[in-house]
Amino acid sequence: LTSGLESAWNKLKGEEVLTKDNIVEPMREIRRALLEADVSLPVVRRFVQAVSEQAVGVGLIRGVKPDQQLVKIVHSELVKLMGGEVSELNFAKSGRTVILLAGLQGVGKTTVCAKLSYYLKKQGKSSMLVAADVYRPAAIDQLVILGEQVGVPVYTAGTEVKPSEIARRGLEEAKKKKMDVVIVDTAGRLQIDKSMMEELKEVKRALNPTEVLLVVDAMTGQEAAALVTTFNLEIGITGAILTKLDGDSRGGAALSVREVSGKPIKLVGRGERMEDLEPFYPDRMAGRILGMGDVLSFVEKAQEVMKQEDAEELQKKIMSAKFDFNDFLKQTRSVARMGSMTRVMGMIPGMGKVTPAQIRDAEKSLKIMESMIEVMTPEEREKPELLAESPVLRKRIAKDSGKTEQQVSQLVAQLFQMRIRMKNLMGIMEGQEGSIPAL
Ligand code: GDP
Ligand code: MG
Repeated sequence: LTSGLESAWNKLKGEEVLTKDNIVEPMREIRRALLEADVSLPVVRRFVQAVSEQAVGVGLIRGVKPDQQLVKIVHSELVKLMGGEVSELNFAKSGRTVILLAGLQGVGKTTVCAKLSYYLKKQGKSSMLVAADVYRPAAIDQLVILGEQVGVPVYTAGTEVKPSEIARRGLEEAKKKKMDVVIVDTAGRLQIDKSMMEELKEVKRALNPTEVLLVVDAMTGQEAAALVTTFNLEIGITGAILTKLDGDSRGGAALSVREVSGKPIKLVGRGERMEDLEPFYPDRMAGRILGMGDVLSFVEKAQEVMKQEDAEELQKKIMSAKFDFNDFLKQTRSVARMGSMTRVMGMIPGMGKVTPAQIRDAEKSLKIMESMIEVMTPEEREKPELLAESPVLRKRIAKDSGKTEQQVSQLVAQLFQMRIRMKNLMGIMEGQEGSIPAL
């Protein structure tokens, strides 16, 4: 998916803004990439529609290239598609929380049971597992072994008792043991079939569960959509757990579940170990799909700070060499607001990382500069040339700000250097070549 999307961004190289016409090609690439990642067609259609609408409506942000903007829009639509926020497990307000796990055979239900009780244990919640998969004796043994591994009790009643009856008895047992949570493992088939659904419905009736979670193998791809839809219609689910995300999954299942069922993915499994279960974070997943975390944070920062108007005005001043101490101050303050320009530069690919010590130094010297500019007269601020020419004025500023004359001279020199550097910086943001100043 990542490489497919990359060709979408590449189509925008050299463009100035996103328009109705120039997004056609990239949108086609995005569409293809999603379909190749096994996202179902209706989901892809709606997604492409939503992104196109936003892309055309978005204004120009100085310093952010159209392809970066499109990455950002696609990212936020991906997050939305996957439900936006993290969706926590629900717990019963009073009494026991009952979690029923359902899903096809081999998707990882039994493993999830144990992982989930381990996950809850870390949160200080006690839990009990119930073995209601009566079709394979090995399935019961497997749950018992996993239960031992994570140190939680497992209720079993052999293979002769009906699953709904096992569920009922298991619940009783958990009540006696004063467990916080009961997790019920059920049987899966290779395909959705009627008797499995009937059995699940019966188990559900017997339990009145707080959560009914459909366990979905992330490798399922397209079929995930149909699977989730069917389970939701037939038995009613409250969410899904995506397993085997550590594998060679193309991401399609993650993108379809929410859209087709309206139900969130609550947890993901990323491996066979007991600790490999974690909450599902839509924004991280979107970032992973795009593989472009750096660009995303850069665009966000730039949006926050560089309002288009401000930037344009500033650029005019720089180009006409009118950049004065007022601008300098404005600039250094907005730089401080940005958490320092150097940090942002570290995010731009190919610019190398800036160390925290360098950032601290930069912020400290910004403070010193501010205190000197603050004692300047309006005329001195507007005409840095005055200070450049007059040692007397520099002496006064040094005295009033409590800095040395040398520091004032440095500041003046810096402003003139700054004019040149700002020119370069605008060049970089516009995508031209330029050398990077260290603040
Ligand atoms: P069930 O039939 O749905 O109960 O599936 P199981 O829990 O028995 O799991 C089937 C296989 O998938 C087992 O070999 C598990 O170790 C493996 N498995 C389960 N979850 C994950 C996961 O998140 N990542 C990987 N790599 N393997 C998993
Ligand atoms: Mg099983």
